Amino acid sequence: MADLESFRAWVADASATLTDQAEHLTDLDRAIGDGDHGTNMARGFAACAALDPEAGYNGIDAYLKMVGMTLVSTVGGASGPLYGTFFLRLAGPLAAADEVGVHQVGQALRAGVEGVVARGKAQLGDKTMYDALAPALEAFDEASRDGQDLASCLEAAALAAAAGRDATEPLVARKGRASYLGERSAGHIDPGASSATLLIEAAARTLV
Ligand code: ADP
Ligand code: MG
Ligand code: MG
Repeated sequence: MADLESFRAWVADASATLTDQAEHLTDLDRAIGDGDHGTNMARGFAACAALDPEAGYNGIDAYLKMVGMTLVSTVGGASGPLYGTFFLRLAGPLAAADEVGVHQVGQALRAGVEGVVARGKAQLGDKTMYDALAPALEAFDEASRDGQDLASCLEAAALAAAAGRDATEPLVARKGRASYLGERSAGHIDPGASSATLLIEAAARTLV
């Protein structure tokens, strides 16, 4: 079961990881975008990790909504509203719960990923963060149907996200700034698919 402390640990881990990987994410974005994805993500998650736990959010859903709003207002670019929506939508299925298990986390992930699609209109293979998030959700659901516990479901999701991220390399981007490059976007891993994988990996370390 995951409680508010677990979700705060997720955000703290994500912030540390994204700060650590900022240079790498920015290098990826320099190849097919404008070279700001690492700084955007590190800045946004640092702001989330600095949220005062005493400041008026009690409950997992209120906390995740605050994280989502903070991401919208601090990350910027294309990814800010997308990750902001992801966290805002995660909150929905977790309303009024102090502790959540595999079933609720699965519903929350589905809502979050659907939010990314509702906002960004990405399809599988467009070379975006959705190419990591969609297989992560699918793997989570499959492990959940198998009766595995939350930690195992998240580990399966993290492996699938990483495979989805790696599979973006040969793709031609059809969404976002990288799509302006056309065929020249092929041969590079998508920065958003990379940051999405880091977020799911952080969840697998903390949401237990
Ligand atoms: P910007 O491109 O505005 O500088 P970032 O560099 O922070 O924003 O984020 C770029 C990432 O956003 C891309 O690598 C891609 O994964 C993701 N992205 C862009 N547009 C979309 C979209 N429509 N749907 C899903 N993800 C998208
Ligand atoms: Mg960018
Ligand atoms: Mg930018």
